[in-house]
Amino acid sequence: MDGTQILTLGLGLEAPWVLKDQHLDTFVSPHRLDLYVEAERGSLYPCPECGKACKAHDFADKTWRHLNFFQHHCYLHARVPRTQCPEHGIKRIEVPWARPGSDFTLLFEQAAMSLVKEMPVLAVSRQLEMSDKRLWRIVHHYVGRMLGELDLSRVTAVGVDETASRRGHRYVTVFLDMQRKQDPVIFAVPGHGKATIEAFSAFLAAHGGHPNHVTEVVCDMSKAFLNGAAEQLPNAEVTVDWFHIVQTFTKALDEVRKRERRHQAHPKALRWAVLKNTETGNLTDQQITALQELMSDRSATADAWIIKEKLRWIQKAPTPRAARWRITNYLRVMREAVIDKPLLKPMIKALETLKRHTERVVRRWMSGLTNARLEGMNGLFQAARSRARGYRNEANFIAMIYLIGSPVGRLLDRAKST
Ligand SMILES: [Zn+2]
Repeated sequence: MDGTQILTLGLGLEAPWVLKDQHLDTFVSPHRLDLYVEAERGSLYPCPECGKACKAHDFADKTWRHLNFFQHHCYLHARVPRTQCPEHGIKRIEVPWARPGSDFTLLFEQAAMSLVKEMPVLAVSRQLEMSDKRLWRIVHHYVGRMLGELDLSRVTAVGVDETASRRGHRYVTVFLDMQRKQDPVIFAVPGHGKATIEAFSAFLAAHGGHPNHVTEVVCDMSKAFLNGAAEQLPNAEVTVDWFHIVQTFTKALDEVRKRERRHQAHPKALRWAVLKNTETGNLTDQQITALQELMSDRSATADAWIIKEKLRWIQKAPTPRAARWRITNYLRVMREAVIDKPLLKPMIKALETLKRHTERVVRRWMSGLTNARLEGMNGLFQAARSRARGYRNEANFIAMIYLIGSPVGRLLDRAKST
């Protein structure tokens, strides 16, 4: 077996294509290996429309980057014909080693995608010595193609969460199949509110699902979103996620702390101390001291903190009835505590929000869908953000969310093995 035969096997070339020439250039940096592929003279090629063997009309020279040959960049060159079909006229044929329009061979793209699933895109582009822009183009192609194969015909329970694509930038809204144990993301879209749920509903319908089959939605309490859900998913009962309740109160508490700080000095450690979950978060000594001081001086921040912490009593309710009873009592007691205290206004708003959504919150005790999944989204968003580090737009961030958190990643592996 000579070198040409080995390379032919390595490329997986089949008739009519043969490797005609090869050239290793060690005078350029990086070194490159050029492989020249040709079809035998007078070969017939299948018409891309009907598959009928046709004569070539003319040829165009094309080049693809291929997997490195050891440390050398490797390029594949071929003269690609246009067929002259009696029925379909003149058409450019597809070559078996690359997809139409790509400057890379399929093997190169597969290798790139395997790396992108494991490390940041920027790092992969450096390792492959290509621009990250071109690499993103490959990522988008495969993610888009795998999304096309997503089967959503059995989706009946949906969770929704949103995140800023970058600090303070535009939002990305993510939809989850609440019944999927692994890779729950089924849709991600720029923006937030009503438009995103309209987009989801259309996406669901385009992938074999039906908006009318969705019977449960777990989400936060934004009005725009709730209106959208009522319109687009008419059979869905809405459950407000507990995680979002805590988030609402935590934000309000932080607002109170900021307001109060304008009037009186707080110890530095206080900010994180009050925002931390006191049951699971490990407080530092400084933070504990800050909290103790807070409690002794009966500041507004202390009151707000107690209001937030007492949510736990509701959370531990054993039954829906008990939960409803606890919410009612909690609201009564806490409203008395905040009355005539202007600094606590943000807490009053949070309490009103809870009151307005009581039934949706109580549904959590009935629906059986765990909200741990939505809480887990934060980890996914962070991972996607770091993989897409330096990304230029939301589309890249979204592609990464799909790649890490949706079935797309596994569809890709399956496509590769066939
Ligand atoms: Zn034809």
